Amino acid sequence: MPRGYSNYEQKRQEAADGGGGSGIYHIRCLEDGESCKIRYLTDHEDLYWDWFHRKTNDTGGFAGMKLCPRSTGNACVDCKLAKDESLSDKERAGHRAQMQVLAWAYEYEHYYTEPKEDRKKVTLGRSLVRYMKTVNEARLWRYAGAHMKALEPTIQLRNTLLDRDYLWIRSGKKGDTKPQYTLESMSDESELPAELKKLVLSLPDLEEVALERVTSLSGEKTASGETYRTVRVVEEDPTVPPFGVESPNVEAAANVVFGEEPEEEPF
Ligand SMILES: [Zn+2]
Repeated sequence: MPRGYSNYEQKRQEAADGGGGSGIYHIRCLEDGESCKIRYLTDHEDLYWDWFHRKTNDTGGFAGMKLCPRSTGNACVDCKLAKDESLSDKERAGHRAQMQVLAWAYEYEHYYTEPKEDRKKVTLGRSLVRYMKTVNEARLWRYAGAHMKALEPTIQLRNTLLDRDYLWIRSGKKGDTKPQYTLESMSDESELPAELKKLVLSLPDLEEVALERVTSLSGEKTASGETYRTVRVVEEDPTVPPFGVESPNVEAAANVVFGEEPEEEPF
């Protein structure tokens, strides 16, 4: 099916804008030392976790994650194949379920390690130079269960994830299948701002996302007839161009749920 220029232009702008396209954007850092300033919108007791399988398209490529049917009390072909001794180790691993944890978070700013036209040079803390892009959108924090370790110190010390802004930092170069993440306090304790409290109410249940009943925050009607839309609650820095000149598909593919390969080996 021809996709056409106007459609391309719209997608280009949406992607370069860091949101608004179909699909749900994830909190995602791809390079060693890349980080983002976030505010959790889901507290630790409301995190959604469950087992998921990798979905593949016709050519065997990655096509997102699907909830293991055993989670809803049904038989699962993938779990069966994961134990099928007639398959190779690699094939079995491809069918194995992975524990994933889902939360909503508001991403204020993204800090890249490399400069680009639409990124502004900033210094984090005393001396860490990074290249900042304003995001100001709700995103899905969706990571393998192993990364709960990064949240544990905060949960254990503060008994909440909502008390302040945090820096979510990746260690591990691009393509590393076992990157590590650190959650670092980035502000004093403060109540969740009123705009974000309001935003929380507009977000779908994480379970609806896990079940793929909601697959977009772009304002399109979902299968269940509801419409969700992310809202920018803070004005963008006027010095940052609204969209960059880079190829949109690179960043879009990096952020959108579709086509995003989980970095970690299944459990
Ligand atoms: Zn399963």
